[in-house]
Amino acid sequence: MLDTPSFRRAHRISNLEISEIVQISERAAARKVQGYDIVSLSTGEPDFPTPDHVIEAAHGAALAGQTRYTATLGTAALRAAIADDAGARPDEVIVSTGAKQVIANAMLATLDAGDQVVMPAPYWTSYSDIVTMAGGTPVIVPCAMTEGFKLTPAALESALTPRTRWLMLNAPSNPSGAIYSREEILALAEVLARHPHVWVLSDEIYEHLNFVPFCRFVAVAPELRDRLLTVNGVSKAWSMTGWRIGWGVGPVALIKAMGAVQGQITSGACSIAQAAAVAALTGDRTLLDTRREVLRARRDLVVSALNAMPGVDCASPDGAFYAFPRITGAMAAQGHATDADFCDWLLDHHNLALVPGRAFGLPGHLRLSFAYAETDLKTGLARMASALNGGN
Ligand code: PMP
Repeated sequence: MLDTPSFRRAHRISNLEISEIVQISERAAARKVQGYDIVSLSTGEPDFPTPDHVIEAAHGAALAGQTRYTATLGTAALRAAIADDAGARPDEVIVSTGAKQVIANAMLATLDAGDQVVMPAPYWTSYSDIVTMAGGTPVIVPCAMTEGFKLTPAALESALTPRTRWLMLNAPSNPSGAIYSREEILALAEVLARHPHVWVLSDEIYEHLNFVPFCRFVAVAPELRDRLLTVNGVSKAWSMTGWRIGWGVGPVALIKAMGAVQGQITSGACSIAQAAAVAALTGDRTLLDTRREVLRARRDLVVSALNAMPGVDCASPDGAFYAFPRITGAMAAQGHATDADFCDWLLDHHNLALVPGRAFGLPGHLRLSFAYAETDLKTGLARMASALNGGN
């Protein structure tokens, strides 16, 4: 129950639930505590450790007294390192408490009631909730597996209205792994050129986790720079999810507005974590290559195992660390009307936690994260295969 006789939620969040991904992880954890041997492939968190040189930089910063409030928009050192990485100026950068807060700041800073935000589905679950929380209206454009889960120029054109404030793009994508080629970005940019009131949020948090060439949106469509916010961070590539450092790069007026929001919510990101992020960005990057190859091997293992299961079709993801198979055949064969029922059945009867596609705006699929050790992946996949082959 969301409301009680003595408690009423604000309208803004009247339908907001805890993220379905978190709910499933929590249910899986609760069953583990009850003694079930659960394999969870549900969260988007690399199993690699944060690199040692990053941890050492944090330790050094704490000992050196970098333990006070920083400037709201971020430390000069980190904004300079980000600007350098992004080919931008430091005043075009805001550092926040994770990439998630960058997105929330941007929406809170720009949306009025009824403003629309176009998001191709499957999209990262939080996009629609953040937009709704900020008073906007998500406009969801389903992008089928046959389109590579990507937004086409025609679909974009027909989703835009005079009330559209933002297009939210995410590549490599969570949950589909899709990456837009240079040509595909150019084709979308051509549509956007005809709609100058529409801003673009390009979420590139999985930038370094790519198995095909990845193009930054700004590099392909620099003419849109004055209405483009690029979101990135250290969470995924450097295995720093708990450090909570993300950033946005965009026009100064937008960055200032986002800073005004952030100043009243957090005052700014953690000083020690910001020092750690400088070390990540400016340090040796060979580990990104090593980790990419580990993920590539896991991807291949997962995709071929999924495609060998009856009623499951899985495209090979081009980036990130998720497989997003279509499971409509398997759902029908096992008598499940929805992907959520199917995932409940896998958890309750086969001790495997996965996330239903409906959490990403595209039912009939599920998301399997391969940011887990190979042994867990193999056990989880074997459980799913035996569930589908044996039923029950
Ligand atoms: N964008 C996408 C597409 C993500 O998958 C995530 C994390 N799941 C984030 C942003 C948020 O990243 P952070 O942990 O830095 O807030």
